[in-house]
Amino acid sequence: MYERVLVNAGVEIHRARAEVVDKNSVRVEGRTYTAKHILVATGSWPQLPVIPGIEHAITSNEAFALERLPRRAVVVGGGYIALEFASIFHGLGVETMLTYRGRRLLRGFDAELGARIAEEMSAKGVNVCFGCEPAALRKREKSGDSIEIEFTDGRTAQADLVMFATGRRPNTAKLGLESAGVKLAADGAVIVDRYSASSVPSIHAVGDVTNRINLTPVATAEAMWLARTLFRGEPTPVDHENVPTAVFANPNLATVGLSEEKARERYGAIDVYKTSFRALKLTMSDKAERTFMKLVVDRASQRVVGAHMIGADAGEIIQGIAIAVKLGATKAQFDATIGIHPTAAEEFVTMREKTA
Ligand SMILES: Cc1cc2nc3c(=O)[nH]c(=O)nc-3n(C[C@H](O)[C@H](O)[C@H](O)COP(=O)(O)OP(=O)(O)OC[C@H]3O[C@@H](n4cnc5c(N)ncnc54)[C@H](O)[C@@H]3O)c2cc1C
Repeated sequence: MYERVLVNAGVEIHRARAEVVDKNSVRVEGRTYTAKHILVATGSWPQLPVIPGIEHAITSNEAFALERLPRRAVVVGGGYIALEFASIFHGLGVETMLTYRGRRLLRGFDAELGARIAEEMSAKGVNVCFGCEPAALRKREKSGDSIEIEFTDGRTAQADLVMFATGRRPNTAKLGLESAGVKLAADGAVIVDRYSASSVPSIHAVGDVTNRINLTPVATAEAMWLARTLFRGEPTPVDHENVPTAVFANPNLATVGLSEEKARERYGAIDVYKTSFRALKLTMSDKAERTFMKLVVDRASQRVVGAHMIGADAGEIIQGIAIAVKLGATKAQFDATIGIHPTAAEEFVTMREKTA
């Protein structure tokens, strides 16, 4: 579908690796093309640690093309990709271990979300191991191709599949950017200003290659803002405030705005409202899963500056809440909104007790 839109708009597509030659030219398959503007949108690539036996591991790139389901899987990482794949494997009946070298999942998210999602995933049967950092992988051909993972503390685990989701690196290696004068950050990201311009005025960059907020709708928005700046004469800076995001783990998790920790740093005095309950629909079942919701409010202005949720359809619910947060709604305006009963979402407009 996207391709049709591009072709209909007159875009010529070359399915080949491109390289920047200088500030106005790009080489593809031996031919050089010149242009007034060059946009770098080459994305990112999974990063693997340098440890013995790492060639036995896969990344999310390969995870979508597995020929058969493993019996036991170890997913390494504590970010959203690791949580999502651990949930997918476990949901498909795979004996799943999630190993993370730190103590709290989802760094950068509200601390309570990281702690609670670990509890929920563990309760569902994912073996979550903190302080577990793989030191080596060994293939054990005699035991049906299984892989032994040795951790830095000497512990070991056996698996049929080991997947690393330990971060991604902007795709700028051998792209010719540095020789064209484009400045890169230590992690390889193209350094851009608020208008996505690189250090070379004719070269811009958007999306994961700039390592700002690495999400599809953000990459798309950055491209739209850039198009306005360059071709409509409306200089439009990027707006990375209050970007909602979801983690499609089981249970679902979503968030918009500031974590409690970041809000405290920015505003000093804050009010926190939270609730944890068993969704009404689950009371008819034996499922113990709890829904968690939290609102973070700047005490001085009473604006809701963060909304967080773990529970069914969290992404769907937070998308709506994000509009209110983006518009600067106050806690009183949340409270003045009538809830839809009986939903989980109504709790976002009925939280009255401050917990901090
Ligand atoms: C497992 C996984 C799950 C994700 N889930 C979500 C999600 O649920 N929601 C969400 O919003 N985001 C999600 N993301 C993030 C999202 O995929 C990225 O933020 C988004 O794709 C970034 O878009 P982009 O255009 O910058 O890069 P990409 O989509 O990576 O596109 C870059 C393209 O450039 C091509 N390329 C690279 N180098 C060259 C070259 N030299 N010449 C020519 N072409 C080149 C690549 O082949 C690729 O096609 C997920 C990412 C992963 C890995």
